[in-house]
Amino acid sequence: MYLPDKKGKFGEFGGKFAPETLIPPLEELERGYKEIAKSKEFQKELDYYLSEYAGRPTPLYFAKNFSDYVGCKVYLKREDLAFTGAHKINNTIGQVLLAKMMGKKRIIAETGAGQHGVATATASALLGMECIIYMGEIDWKRQSLNVYRMKLLGAEVISVKSGSKTLKDAINEAMRDWITNFKNTHYVIGSVVGPHPYPVMVRDFQSVIGKEAKRQILKKEKRLPDYLIACVGGGSNSIGLFHPFYKDKKVKFIGIEAAGKGLNTEEHAATLCKGKKGILHGSYTYILQDRNGQIHPTHSVSAGLDYPGVGPEHSFYKETGRAKYFAATDKEALRGFHILSELEGIIPALEPSHAIGWLVKNRKRFKKDEMIILCLSGRGDKDVMEVAEIEGEL
Ligand SMILES: *Cc1c(COP(=O)(O)O)cnc(C)c1O
Repeated sequence: MYLPDKKGKFGEFGGKFAPETLIPPLEELERGYKEIAKSKEFQKELDYYLSEYAGRPTPLYFAKNFSDYVGCKVYLKREDLAFTGAHKINNTIGQVLLAKMMGKKRIIAETGAGQHGVATATASALLGMECIIYMGEIDWKRQSLNVYRMKLLGAEVISVKSGSKTLKDAINEAMRDWITNFKNTHYVIGSVVGPHPYPVMVRDFQSVIGKEAKRQILKKEKRLPDYLIACVGGGSNSIGLFHPFYKDKKVKFIGIEAAGKGLNTEEHAATLCKGKKGILHGSYTYILQDRNGQIHPTHSVSAGLDYPGVGPEHSFYKETGRAKYFAATDKEALRGFHILSELEGIIPALEPSHAIGWLVKNRKRFKKDEMIILCLSGRGDKDVMEVAEIEGEL
C-alpha cells in the first residue's frame, strides 16, 4: 500500500490534528499538492531550478580514507554541496514554487537556528515572492548572522517574544499568521513534520536525495547498498534518502538522533529513542514530553536536531522495524566532525556529524565488503565558530 493513506496516516501515525480554523488552508494545500505538484509542468520547472540553480544532482562520493578508517565502504551523499549548503533548499524551492503556481503572493516560515529561514528567503527571492520569517527572540540573538542573511535576501524577520521565545513559539506564531492570511499566503514548514499534507509533501520534495543516490550507486557499484545512514532531527534528510529504497528490503535504514549530554540525562533530543506517542504541531507521532504531558525541553550541540518531535513516517518505520534508530552524544558528534574534516577535507555540519560519529563508534558492526551510503546533509561552515568556542580555541 502506498503511504500515507487518504487521511495522511502512516499506520497509526500522522494525520491532521489541527484546530478548525486551520482546516481550510490545509485542504487547499492538499488539493494544490495533488493537482499541481504532480503535474508535468510543475515537475519540469522544479527540475530546472534544482539543476540550474541549486546544483543538483549532488555527488555521491566514495570516501576512501574514511572507509579505510571505519573498515567498510562508505559513500557520502553530498548535500553539503547543494546551494546554501544543505538539503533544506530541495524543500523550500519545491514549496515556494508550488505556492506561486497556486497563485499565492506571500511566503511565511518559522526558523530555529535560521537555516530553514535562509533557505526559504532564498527560494522566495528566486521566485519573486514576499517573505516573512518568524524567529524566537532567543534564537534571533544566538543566530544574528542568519538574521542579517535573511534580510539581505529581502525577507522580513519577525522576533517572537511569546512562550520560551524559541522554535516552537515561532511555529505557533507562523500558524496564527497563516490562519488569518491563507488566501494570499503559503506557510513553508521546514521538515517532514506538522499536519497532513506536510509530512508527505516534504518527503516527496526531499526524495530527490534518495532517487539520485540509487541511480548513482547502481552506476558505480552495480548493486544497492547494505545500509543507509542519516541524522534525524525532524527527519527530512533521512526520509529523503530512505524513502526511494523503501521496497528494497535488503537495504537497511539507520537513523541517528541527538543524544546531547547522554540518553540517561534530561538533556537530549532523542525523540524516537526515548519519547512517547502524542500530538505535536498537528501530528500524532513520537514526542518528548514530561509526566504531565508537557513538551520536554531539548538539548543538542546542533541546532538542527534540537526538536522535541519527529516526522510521523519515522514513527511508523520504528514501529514496523523498517528502520532502526540510535543516538550519538554531543561528544561523539564532535569526534565525527573532526575525523571527517581530517580524513577527507570535508567539514561536515554538526547534524550529520552525529551520523558520522555514530558510525565511527560502531564501526565493528560492519563487515569489510559491506557498503553504506551516509547522508552528509550539510556543510560545517556555520558551526566552525561554535566548535572552536566549545573546544576553547577562541
Ligand atoms: C535542519 C538540518 C537537519 C535536520 O533536519 P531534518 O529534517 O532531520 O533533516 C540536518 N542537517 C542539516 C545540515 C540541517 O540543516
